[in-house]
Amino acid sequence: MKQTRSALGTAVKQMAENAGAAAVGISSVGRLTDKPSMDANYLLPGARSIVSVMLPLEDRVIRDYLGKTNRIGFQLHETETYRKLYAIGTEIADFMKAEKYRAVVAEPNLDYRYKDSTEYRKIPYQVRQNVLDWLASDSFYPVGKFKKAILPVLYDVSFKNSIDWELTPSFSHRYGAVAAGIGHFGWSGNVLHPDYGARVLYNTVITDCDMPSDPMLEKTPCDGCRICTKVCQSNFIHPKKKTSVTIGDRIFEHNKKAHNLRCIFVCAGFSGQNKHAGWSTWSPGRVNLPESDDALEARWKEFVKVNLWNRNHYSKVFADLLYHSEKGFIRKESERFASTCGNCQLVCWQTREMRRQNYDLIVNSWEVSGNDDFPSPVENG
Ligand code: SF4
Ligand code: SF4
Repeated sequence: MKQTRSALGTAVKQMAENAGAAAVGISSVGRLTDKPSMDANYLLPGARSIVSVMLPLEDRVIRDYLGKTNRIGFQLHETETYRKLYAIGTEIADFMKAEKYRAVVAEPNLDYRYKDSTEYRKIPYQVRQNVLDWLASDSFYPVGKFKKAILPVLYDVSFKNSIDWELTPSFSHRYGAVAAGIGHFGWSGNVLHPDYGARVLYNTVITDCDMPSDPMLEKTPCDGCRICTKVCQSNFIHPKKKTSVTIGDRIFEHNKKAHNLRCIFVCAGFSGQNKHAGWSTWSPGRVNLPESDDALEARWKEFVKVNLWNRNHYSKVFADLLYHSEKGFIRKESERFASTCGNCQLVCWQTREMRRQNYDLIVNSWEVSGNDDFPSPVENG
């Protein structure tokens, strides 16, 4: 006999906690209608509820990363945490299926809807990766000249001159966490937990079982300190302009973010310094971004055409970025893509004093030297 929907909700939450989730909540899909990335039907047609689960990132590991004593330690910890979240989600989905409901566990990151619609993805991944790796590899003058000549053609054929920079995820775990009552928006747009701030990761299970929703958090843990804007080299987080999103019957506000390419240029590792002098992210890249968002897409296109064929730091980041975005945190077999930023999330802990200390760590850390060649910054650990 099937359990009641309420008993199922209780059992799911108990199971998630037993599996190690630091927080778990449930929302009906009826709360999630304002944005395309909230639509749970994309991953499971007929979806009725979502289950949101959270794990925190370790404070000690984050501080070693922000203060630039250990980069790879954070990268490994982040991957492991995403994998734990995925394992918890898989347990929940398996449980729902055993109860004769349909359920899917979403990928916890790097799962975007463009993957189903972009022209270049008709070419098998391994072929695309081989081409990018070859373009980024060392080559003698005539081969380099050939790479330079064919790149604009390859680019235009691959993207048909347009890329959807909206980057709509298959499901937004941030919106799911707010709807399920385990997080609330900070000014940065990251979703904060009262006990940890923004140093948390979320994942979501989607099911056609209509379970009772948990109450949403009344108050945001964000106190408006704006430290998140001060640690962003890309100018992505606006200090004053805001936007809003509706979840359930509530309207939430956060900053009006700039063009996604700003964060991509910095967070992917093309640029470690742009807006703020005196400190950098972990990236040795030094791309200067245009003031206006209107010029960003043209800048990207030009940047790709100039660098992708040319063996340097940037061509390596391009090739690694393809690997990382295709494989995701769950399926990747190597650490070939380097984490270099995440500052807006990682600086934001639960008290202002902690955030100030994190800010000091970032701005007083050493500056990863900018150069165009392969040598990576020195990494300890
Ligand atoms: S850093 Fe400050 S302003 Fe930004 S999200 Fe966190 S608490 Fe809010
Ligand atoms: S991840 Fe880095 S570049 Fe992206 S918004 Fe946050 S601080 Fe800015």
